[in-house]
Amino acid sequence: MVRPLIPEADLARRVREIGEAITRDYAGRDLVIVSVLKGSFVFTADLVRAIEVPLRVEFFGVRSYGHRTESSGEVQITLDLAHPITGEDVLVVEDIVDTGLTLTYLLEQLRARGPRSVRVCALLHKPARCVRPVDIDYLGFTIDDVFVVGYGLDHAERYRNLPYVGVLGDGPEAAAR
Ligand code: 5GP
Repeated sequence: MVRPLIPEADLARRVREIGEAITRDYAGRDLVIVSVLKGSFVFTADLVRAIEVPLRVEFFGVRSYGHRTESSGEVQITLDLAHPITGEDVLVVEDIVDTGLTLTYLLEQLRARGPRSVRVCALLHKPARCVRPVDIDYLGFTIDDVFVVGYGLDHAERYRNLPYVGVLGDGPEAAAR
């Protein structure tokens, strides 16, 4: 059972606002979007269409959960960037920041490749579970400590195609802000 948490219209509105902010902040520059697979593929597809500066899209595949709903703290690279990012302005696009372990690892990997700048854009943030604090430059929504699916996010590879973000199971009441 999936209980709707963030409806399609709210996602679309927030993506538009974030796109406008990124367009303002990167005016006159080219951007490299690093989309973290698999979870952020839907968010990335919508977000890039809301950004009006020239950009290219790279994919970085990591796996942190396997088929469970608890973070193992271990991050495995499943797909590396296809091109160098040396001297580039990089914007990492993540689906959700939970413990922060994945993003911390990812940022170390990317910074070691000599980009001009690295910023982070995340659709969702669960501050209640933070282990490694990370700065999120562009954030969609802060949510309670619940396991969410939809809009690219899965459970055991299912539910990525839901057009909204919902809470899986009969967990506690949750809110997004
Ligand atoms: P972290 O390393 O911050 O604990 O976890 C980051 C990754 O774990 C996310 O990119 C996402 O793939 C997965 N994850 C964390 N929380 C959730 C959640 O509520 N739902 C789903 N589907 N994945 C999650």
